[in-house]
Amino acid sequence: MITPQKGRVVLARLENRIKPDIRSQRPSNGAARASEIFSEHSPQRVPVEGSISGNVRKPLRVMKFGGTSVGDASCIAKVAEIIRAASQESSIVVVVSAMAGVTNKLIEAARLSEAGDSKAVATIFEGLRKQHDAVVDVLIPSAVERNRIRRKMRIIFQEGDRLCEGTILLRELTLRARDSISSLGERLSAPLVAAALAERGVPAEAIEATELVVTDSDHGAADPRMDLTRQQSQARLVPLLRLGTVPVATGFIGATAEGVLTTLGRGGSDYSATILGAALDADEVIIWTDVDGLLTADPRLVPGACTVPEISYREAAELAHFGAKVLHPKTLRAVMQCGIPLWIRNTFAPEQPGTKVTPTGPLAGGGVKALTAIGDLAMITVGGPGIVGVPDVLGRTFSTTAAARTDVLLISQSSSQNNICLIVSSSLAKHTVEALRREFAQDLSHEKVEHITLDTAVAIVTVVGQNMRGISGIVGRTFGALGRENVNIIAIAQGSSECNISFVVAQEDMKAALVTIHQEFQLGAEAASPFPQEALGTNLQHDLKV
Ligand code: ADP
Ligand code: ASP
Ligand code: MG
Repeated sequence: MITPQKGRVVLARLENRIKPDIRSQRPSNGAARASEIFSEHSPQRVPVEGSISGNVRKPLRVMKFGGTSVGDASCIAKVAEIIRAASQESSIVVVVSAMAGVTNKLIEAARLSEAGDSKAVATIFEGLRKQHDAVVDVLIPSAVERNRIRRKMRIIFQEGDRLCEGTILLRELTLRARDSISSLGERLSAPLVAAALAERGVPAEAIEATELVVTDSDHGAADPRMDLTRQQSQARLVPLLRLGTVPVATGFIGATAEGVLTTLGRGGSDYSATILGAALDADEVIIWTDVDGLLTADPRLVPGACTVPEISYREAAELAHFGAKVLHPKTLRAVMQCGIPLWIRNTFAPEQPGTKVTPTGPLAGGGVKALTAIGDLAMITVGGPGIVGVPDVLGRTFSTTAAARTDVLLISQSSSQNNICLIVSSSLAKHTVEALRREFAQDLSHEKVEHITLDTAVAIVTVVGQNMRGISGIVGRTFGALGRENVNIIAIAQGSSECNISFVVAQEDMKAALVTIHQEFQLGAEAASPFPQEALGTNLQHDLKV
């Protein structure tokens, strides 16, 4: 009998022996390319005693499915089919989000509970019960299995009722209660996906990530404690993988070392997937979503946006940080140190190769790779010629925003130091300005600091590309194109890494700015033919005839 601890050592040893080759596969010849990477004849496939699936180790893939991918019974059936096909040649750990829209409704229920509106809360829960019941009816033909899942769901819903009742009674929504209420969606969807797999003959077990991901206690934005997470997730998951069972873990949630449930932040299931990928030394993490990969811009804003075939961790992290919703901003953190490739693929078009995110990105080519934008922001300016003479304005400004727990998204300072401009989320703007006015009250009254002003309705547009450093004229072309379209630039920031250029425009100009720059750099055209046609034949899903 191999203990989980021992299994972990075996897995880790095995990973070290075969991983470098798997990871150095170039993505330019299609997506996961199961047949190439894990070919029966591969010299790297070393039989190792006690590995997770008998004597021949299968590659380990963590596959995360987002809210739209598990949005209803027919979507879950598609997801189950993708997992079933992949499980024939890989060990799979699945991470699921709540069904689309469910987390929003739960957060609304939590807010209404705090307001004491028990009727509205009951209506939301009634709708959620119906929604999940309907999926059970369609997805699970066996009456016994249906009843088992229904019992499980009833217990989760009862927990939700009690949490909301407590909040209604106290008229206070603690961060801890908010996390527990908003986590219910993932706790409901994981058993549904596991049941859909079992219906297809794939042994699966739903697992709450409170058993796997150990976090700090920063409710609503928790971060993992990776050493404990490694221990816990390997102890829990390796024995299942060795038995050929597919663990279906809840995304989005974790627990402190004391066992208190936490959440990783909105959209955090992507992060759950890379956390588990790193904790298990996986060969790949695949984020399955509702678009064909990481696109050259948000397709809702730039209709001509195209899939980027390969991108570096760094570029993907910049895009995620500056608003590309397809990845949670922290997703790359977990895999950056271990170099695990990350894929972004479309659940509804699994024949598409998707985007591969690798440590270095493609070796050839540089310049602008993709664009992103964050809207609904505010600009705070601390300024006036007098501030040159006020000692430590910068230091005091940033200690004040830190104390106010305001995330500053972009900073720009005029060369004369007359102005410091900070871009923050609109929802935090008023209270940040108040904090700054308190901090600089004396300087304002002596007119050393002339003004602290607030401009609402601005957006940050970011141009991302790793090798922009070596290519002259990118800034000039960007601003030239914007000038021709009469888009006024309010502030600019370029990091010393030259991996991104960000600038601030009026909210109403955001879309025009994106479309104009996209056109200027012909991003749609460049990415239009990401892979040679013949390479698609080696695509994992294509091979597996999903
Ligand atoms: P999921 O529910 O699968 O987590 P999300 O809605 O969180 O999916 O993220 C996917 C969405 O992100 C896409 O439908 C798309 O509208 C949006 N998006 C924004 N920017 C990009 C981009 N650069 N590439 C791909 N999708 C993007
Ligand atoms: N369900 C959570 C949310 O809507 C997490 C996720 O979907 O990634 O934010
Ligand atoms: Mg998401």
